[in-house]
Amino acid sequence: MNTIEQLKNLSDKVIIVRVDFNVPLKDGAIRDDNRIVAALPTIKYLLSQHAKVVLMSHLGKIDFKKTEEEVKAAKAKNTLKPVAVRLGELLNMEVKFSEATRGEELKNLVHSLKDGEVLLVQNTRYEKGETKNDPELSKEWASLGDGFVMDAFGSAHRAHASTFGVPEEMKKEGKPTAVGYLVEKEVKSLSRCVKADVHPYIAILGGFKVSDKIKVIESLLKKTDKILIGGAMAYTFLKALGKGIGTSPCELDQLDYAKKCYETGKIVLPVDAVVTDKFDEGSDRVIKTVEGNIPDGFEGMDIGPKTIELFKNEIAKAKLIFWNGPTGVFEQKEFQTGTIEVCKAITENKDCFSVIGGGDSAAAAKQFGYKDKFSHVSTGGGASLEMIENDGHLPGIDVIG
Ligand code: ADP
Ligand code: MG
Repeated sequence: MNTIEQLKNLSDKVIIVRVDFNVPLKDGAIRDDNRIVAALPTIKYLLSQHAKVVLMSHLGKIDFKKTEEEVKAAKAKNTLKPVAVRLGELLNMEVKFSEATRGEELKNLVHSLKDGEVLLVQNTRYEKGETKNDPELSKEWASLGDGFVMDAFGSAHRAHASTFGVPEEMKKEGKPTAVGYLVEKEVKSLSRCVKADVHPYIAILGGFKVSDKIKVIESLLKKTDKILIGGAMAYTFLKALGKGIGTSPCELDQLDYAKKCYETGKIVLPVDAVVTDKFDEGSDRVIKTVEGNIPDGFEGMDIGPKTIELFKNEIAKAKLIFWNGPTGVFEQKEFQTGTIEVCKAITENKDCFSVIGGGDSAAAAKQFGYKDKFSHVSTGGGASLEMIENDGHLPGIDVIG
């Protein structure tokens, strides 16, 4: 893997950096600037080497199958303009912004850069060809730079034009490519979970859907000693074992798969649950703890106290932990306990290397004040899962060479 410090003679060179500025926005304001902060070391290094830095990122989704009006609205909603402003504040310098995502206007802006200047290009997904890895678009973007740095870990599992086509093209043209500091750090930490040479190694999986995480369960079953399952996905497993799950979410088409996974003997399931008769927070509802079967009309919202003890026991023994997915509906305070206790137990185990690979899990750890105590909190939920699934390979990183 070429790293950024292997790039030489950067003075006056245009370096295209694919960053992950896919930040949560609300009414045009940035709700969490973590991803911008995470890109700073790479940007600062390039500036210290007197490069001309051109930043590219996607933001949100734009569906070109929708009407022209809807596409226009999606573009307006997903503008990177506020990110340019925030980045300027963080770097304490002017950050130029290109509204154009290709063509003469963009080319002229890039050519007008002086060394040590930064230009952020508008959302790459304004271009229809981005997600299709369109070769013409990749060629045009590649022609703008003298080299390429991949620092968008959260997008490294996608072979799009800005993550894959551009570095592929640059390599063909003999231009240098490298990964940035953020990607380097992510790969180092997640590689431990991929290599799985430290034991006991446990995974804690929660969150909503089994089907989203099927491939990762399969590969984790090969690598880990145990998988603790909480969250909504636990009910699909419990149902597969013939337990009553009330109105809890369940994926009926995954029952056979769940049963097969359970038969490996590595899966630890909840033995009790905090349940409610109504999901909605504001409503007049019953909340109680039940053991074993969940009664009809009730839905499981979090793991119960006995399960917390069971999980804590396993967590305390582990030397390596990968966590993806909250154990309950942590957005509602009545159902936070399981997720908080999991955070607490993991971070109290000082002998283990702990990794969070999931957007909501990372948000939960931050909300409850444990984020800084984990060994590594990945900036890419989907990317970290795919990295484990694909035995350490991601298209946007492999292409760098
Ligand atoms: P991550 O982003 O960490 O990968 P997911 O996106 O898979 O996690 O899942 C997070 C969501 O799962 C949260 O919004 C949480 O409310 C939901 N969830 C967890 N447990 C339950 C449950 N028992 N019932 C319904 N939703 C749940
Ligand atoms: Mg999520």
